[in-house]
This record gives sequence, structure tokens and C-alpha cells, in this order.
Amino acid sequence: MPAMKSHARVVVVGGGVVGCSVLYHLTKMGWKDVVLCERKELTAGSSWHAAGGFHALNSDPNISRLQAYTIKLYREIEKLSGQNIGLHFTGGLNIAATRERWDFLRADWARHRVLGLSTELLGPAQIRKLCPIIDTSDVIGAIYDPMEGHLDPSGATHAFAKAARSAGAEIYRHTRVIEILPTGHGSWHIVTDAGTLEAEHVVNAAGLWAREVGQMVGVQLPIVAMEHHYLLTEDLPELQQLPGEIPLVLDLDGEIYLRQERKGILLGVYEKEATPWALNGTPWEYGENELLPPSLDRLTDALDKGFRRFPTLSAAGIRRVVNGPFTFTPDGNPLVGPVPGVRNYWAACGVMAGFAQAGGVGLALSHWMTQGEPDSDIYAMDVARFGAYASRNYTIAKGREFYARRFQIAYPNEFWPAGRPAKTPATYPTLKAANGVFGVSFGTEVPLYFATDGELSEETPSLRRSNAFASVAEECRVARNGVGILDISSFGKYLIGGPRAEQALERLLAGRIPGLGKIRLTPMLSHSGRLMGDLTTMRLESDRFLLGGSGYLQTWHMRWFSHHLAAEGVTVKNVSEEYGGVAIFGPQSRELLARLSQANVSNEAFPFLTVLQRDLGFAPALTARLSVTGELGYEIYTPTPYMHALLGSVIQAAEELDARHVGFYALNALRLEKSFGIWSREFSPDYTPRMAGLDRFIAYDRPNFIGREAAIRDRETAPKRRLVTLAVSSTDADAAGYEPIVLRGDLVGFVTSGGYAHSVRTSLAMAYVNAEVSDTEQELSVTILGEPCSCRILTEPSIDASGSRMKS
Ligand SMILES: Cc1cc2nc3c(=O)[nH]c(=O)nc-3n(C[C@H](O)[C@H](O)[C@H](O)COP(=O)(O)OP(=O)(O)OC[C@H]3O[C@@H](n4cnc5c(N)ncnc54)[C@H](O)[C@@H]3O)c2cc1C
Repeated sequence: MPAMKSHARVVVVGGGVVGCSVLYHLTKMGWKDVVLCERKELTAGSSWHAAGGFHALNSDPNISRLQAYTIKLYREIEKLSGQNIGLHFTGGLNIAATRERWDFLRADWARHRVLGLSTELLGPAQIRKLCPIIDTSDVIGAIYDPMEGHLDPSGATHAFAKAARSAGAEIYRHTRVIEILPTGHGSWHIVTDAGTLEAEHVVNAAGLWAREVGQMVGVQLPIVAMEHHYLLTEDLPELQQLPGEIPLVLDLDGEIYLRQERKGILLGVYEKEATPWALNGTPWEYGENELLPPSLDRLTDALDKGFRRFPTLSAAGIRRVVNGPFTFTPDGNPLVGPVPGVRNYWAACGVMAGFAQAGGVGLALSHWMTQGEPDSDIYAMDVARFGAYASRNYTIAKGREFYARRFQIAYPNEFWPAGRPAKTPATYPTLKAANGVFGVSFGTEVPLYFATDGELSEETPSLRRSNAFASVAEECRVARNGVGILDISSFGKYLIGGPRAEQALERLLAGRIPGLGKIRLTPMLSHSGRLMGDLTTMRLESDRFLLGGSGYLQTWHMRWFSHHLAAEGVTVKNVSEEYGGVAIFGPQSRELLARLSQANVSNEAFPFLTVLQRDLGFAPALTARLSVTGELGYEIYTPTPYMHALLGSVIQAAEELDARHVGFYALNALRLEKSFGIWSREFSPDYTPRMAGLDRFIAYDRPNFIGREAAIRDRETAPKRRLVTLAVSSTDADAAGYEPIVLRGDLVGFVTSGGYAHSVRTSLAMAYVNAEVSDTEQELSVTILGEPCSCRILTEPSIDASGSRMKS
């Protein structure tokens, strides 16, 4: 082992598969002065006892891409390192035994075309041919992915480590990081039991100990470890006769996974009663060939299902039972990126499927560290996607839930119950009493829709249109003809002030800064000119601004603001929870506002994109004239303690009007009718302003905003893809995202979001399509739940193309 350096550019804490991959990728991107500290031997956490399976399929398309990258990388690191990693590309089957699951798999299979994955749908006979030990009597079909397989977990970890070492990295084994202390000039003292070194950056890749390594810098990472079992059987005669290996099998309805291990079987189970491990801290002495005592009693139900699907297993001898812990986050995705509030401290932890994800995590993080941003939209695994609500108890509850539902269908309209309700808007009792049905966003309950009389006030999870349909239709009708009332307290709100606030915003935002009392849509760009935000900026005073954005991005936005707005004379405050809000929209919204404010709110006195600061009832209110629905509309903000009273005044003033509570489902339908994009769907760091049609909001002539040079290059280059809206012929389901769009058999684009547009009684989808087809009048096809549906590109928004309703 090399003698410990006194300085390094990066110290990676943890030599599991993730830490070693990060180390390798840092060297690959040109940073040589990098070291890794491992407490014991490499793999001494979860990595050594993993089942070693890998697969590219994931419900999040961007994570799927990174998983596919991980798998493709294995041959490369095997070659580079000379380390055999025991690669078996057996292919993999995801089995469906219910109609619903089959719809789900077919929808997934269609999306794979967009992701460049060549999966196939197979029927029972084809499944049996690949895997003769499976009972397919109730099986409808399966997705077959040729990229799946398994490997030797220890070999893979060492291969990353060797490849990193031969590129200049150093690895210190038996070196436990005990403390991480700021030096006072932006770097860190890494105190280990073998000495101290100074480093510019620290990466927390400490796996089972990531919580503890977070606490070393005062950070509580939302991670919980969970026990997990797999069994290894004796050799099976059926497998001995086969010339090759059977594929990996995920029996999604049975909630088991299985693969061949020599001539026997490795069978893993996700039991319903998940068992968290080491809740009060992972013992430092744990690990290195240590396992937990097996508890087969907990697995009886799951094993029964496994034995029914694979009857030969019920008679097989069990050679070994493995029970080991590994980590989960509240949504099951990793924690990657700069940890908010701690300079040069990076996360690469909470990785549940290390052998499918370590390569992608290493790539994304190293790109971020060396180039200043990740190379694609990795929000689904960004450490900044959670907020303070992701407390210890919340994380345990959600981690258990995720484990128990690991293979369950994730319906687009389903909000899982654990950890709810945690945060509620001040108006929750009123909205509940009005039959509000809630979902959750950033830990807060948000109204999805308001059930009409006699209708079930619970939404049925469904891949097709749900029982919320009629209520949402009525909400849309009212919003287009009367006045809709929506609690928007969950929106993100930031106050930026100080004598240098305008100057700082001119650098931060790519859009024009509004004049006093005015509002502008202000895109925000990354250094490479990709979208970083679609904020609304209001100027309340000459040196005081209110920025609005999607509420679930609060930590993400604040991390960016604190990097780029930190200057003398500028204050930045996240006031999302200090202010609540209610939006009113529809042709009667002006009348409603006039009743509330007893002021002249005519178009002349209170024009579109301006702000009115005037009390409404007893509530000090800030009313912004803008609307996501494309109707005449207003967003009214007030300090949270006044929210209940404000909503009460709004409801009272709405008497005799055609008024109704509206939820976020209707808002989504209404904005689709106007072809308005939203963040994470049409707008994300994967797209540039030109592609997204946001270039008209960019102040190209203003010098020095972040991403300007790249934005100018983007403006001068014809985009390969454009954002369009499609009218879709579908009967009972709408596009949900990432469905392929096909012209005469060729893939020409993909859906970003979809839904039923009640005002025009058609299914709509927004999509990125190849520029050359973006104004085609030809019929295209979009695959929804595996079925091709014809669609055509709309030349203008379905409702009020001129924008006159919104502006007059
Ligand atoms: C039974 C079981 C089966 C599994 N099967 C699969 C599978 O088939 N496919 C799959 O993809 N995944 C599987 N997993 C999950 C997989 O094991 C993990 O996702 C992966 O190992 C996580 O790797 P890691 O590097 O993040 O963490 P770890 O492997 O836990 O590594 C963290 C390392 O950091 C070191 N460390 C911690 N603190 C310090 C410190 N202060 N100083 C120095 N070093 C420190 C530890 O010693 C450890 O070596 C399975 C897990 C279990 C338990």
C-alpha cells in the first residue's frame, strides 16, 4: 500500500463498487491526484455479498440510460484492469402474470425504443424455451432484455479500483476516515486512523456508513439500511442438462428474482414486511465477510410464490442463505451530487443497485466535479431532490415502503401512503371538506382534484384514465367558463433583495429583469447553455424581487442560488413555506378579484404580467396577474398564517359565480390545451432554450449571464429536435411520458407529457420530435400502453392561440 499523501485533490470515502467507480471516472476525466480511503478491504460493506445481477430497466428513463452505460462499461474495465469480473450476459426476463402488469410492461417496452434499448416482448412458449424451469400456466408474457446478466461483485469492484490505480489514483486500505474538518480556506482535513490529509473535495461513497460520513460534516442524509435475503440452491438436474444458462428472471407479480449460479439457482425475495437494520447507526466494526443471521420465517409467503413459479425449487436442497444489509433512500434512487450547504462535499451513496448503477453514478458525479455540471438531467438521483421533510422517521417509513413495493407497478397517478400526511397547507381542512383528493409534492399534501358528489373520493391507481376523470372534466369546464380556485401554496418562492440584487439576477437569469411592479418569465441556464430553471421573476421594489418556480425544486434551486448569488449586497431567502398562495383563473376571475379587493382591477388598471400589493380582506396580499391555464388569472400570495382566512374570503366572494375548487390534474390538462411546457417534462437540463421554444424569453443582448455564449451558439445552430403538441387518437388512456413517436416505422421523437384535454375533448401530448418532421401534416403514431395510436402535430395551441383571454 502506498504511503499516505499529505494533499490530494479528491478523497473518496469508501471502497465499495460505487467509490471505486467514482475513483475510476475521476481519473478517466483527467483528475489524477485522487485517493480513496477504505476502512477495511475493498467491498467490505454491501458490495461483497451482492447477488451481482445487473439490468438496464428502470422506471426513470434517465436512470435507465445510466444503468445501460454501467453495463456497457464492464467489458471496458475488465480489459483495462486485466481483472476477471465473471461477466455472464444471460439476458433477463421480466414476467407479467396479470393484465395490468402486461400493459405496464408493454408501455415500458415501447419506451425502450426511445432509450435505445433493444428489448423484446415474449409469449409463454418463448419464455419456457429460454427458461425451462418456469411454470407459465398463468403467465401472459415477458419483456426480454439481452443486456441483463450477472457478475462477480468483488471482481467488478476490484476492476474499477485497478483501472483507477493504473491511471494514477491511490487507494489506502485499512484507513478509516474518522473526521472531516473544514480547513478554513475551502478545503478539508480528512482525519483517518492512519493519518490526516488535506483535500479540495470529499466524496461520500461510504455505502452502509454514508449516514455517519454525512454527520461528520453536519448533514443528515435520507438513507436507511434494509436487510435482504437470497438463497443458493444445490445443483438442479434440469440445469445440468442445459447447454447454456437461463436468463435472470424477475417475477414482478411474485416479487422474487432469480438467476443461475453455476448449476444451481440464486433466489432473492422482497418480502412485504421490510426489516430496517442499524437504525441507530451502522457499527464501525461491521463488515468484511460478515452477514446477518438469516430469518427464513419472514420469507415464507414470498418463497411460496417462488416455488409456485419454479416448482423444481421446492424440492431443491438449500446450499446457503445470505442475509445482508444495503441502503435505500425514500424513493429508492441514489443520492448523487454536491450536498447543499456544504462546499466541495459530494454524495455518491444510497445506491440500492450498485452493480447496475455504479458506472452511471461514477460518470455523472465525475462529470459534475470536473466540468461543473452533470452531462445529462440526473435530477432523479440528485441529492438535492429532498428537503428537510425527509427526516429520519420519514426515511425509515418510505424506505420500508419502497422495499415492500420494490416490484409493484408504479402507477403515474398513485401517491404511496407512507410518511403522509407530513406537511399540509394551511387550507388543508377546508380543501379536505370540499372532497379534495390529495397527492404529495416535496413532502407536502397537494390537491389533485375535488371529487364530485356521489363519486369515490379515493382515486383508483390506473394506467388508464381513472375515476377522477369526471371531476377533472368539471373543474376544467369551470376554469374555462367561470372561475377556478386552486391552492398553490406548494409553489417555490424566493425573495432576492439588496442593493446589488438586480446586478446579481442579471448574471443568474438569462431572461430580462422586469421593471418595478412587473413580471417576466425568466429562464435560467447552466454554463453549457442548458436549461436550469423556468422561473417567474416579479419586481416588488427597486431592489427586491420575488422568484417563483416548481415547489419540489426548492433545495435544487437554493443550491444553485447559493453558488451563483452569493455576493455582498445580495440576500437570498427561500420563503416557500412562509407564504401560501391561491390561484384564481377563468373569465370570472376579474369579477372575483374586484369583489375581494374593492379596487379597480380592470385590464388598464391591472394589466397582464404586473403585480398588485394590496390587502385582500384581512390578508396582506401580493397579487400577480399571470396564469398557467391560459385564462385570465391571478396568483395571490400571503403570509401562511393568513392563508386560511384568504381562502375563506375567496370562497365567500365567489358565491353566485360559476366557481369551484380545482386541483393539479385540471391544471395539467389546462396547460396542455395551451401548449405550455412545465419543468421536468418539457423543460429540463437535457434541453436548450431553442429546442424548448424558450429562446424568445432570453436576453441575448445582455452581457455576462450564465450560459450566454453557449446560448448564442445554440441560437445560431438549427436544433435537431423541437417541442410540439400532438392531438392523439386514443380511447381510454393518455400518453404519460417517453412514449415513442413514429413516422412510417421510423422513430422520430418521444413524448414529454400527456393527458386528456377536457375543453377540446381530445387526448393531447407534448413531445420532442426531429426538426425535419416538426411541421409535418402527415399522420404520426404514438405507442400508448403498447398500442399504436395515430396522432398529428398541432400548428397552434388547442385553446386561445392568440392569448387574448389571458391578456385582456
Ligand atoms: C443480499 C444482497 C443482494 C444484493 N444483490 C444485488 C444485485 O444483484 N445487484 C445489484 O446491483 N445490487 C445488489 N445489492 C446491492 C449492492 O450490494 C449495493 O447497491 C452496493 O454494494 C452498494 O455499494 P456502495 O459502494 O455504495 O456501498 P458499500 O458496498 O457498502 O461500500 C461502502 C464502503 O465504504 C467503506 N467505508 C464506510 N465508511 C468509511 C469510512 N469512514 N472510512 C473509510 N471507509 C469507509 C466501507 O468499509 C465499505 O467498503 C445487493 C445487496 C444485498 C445486501
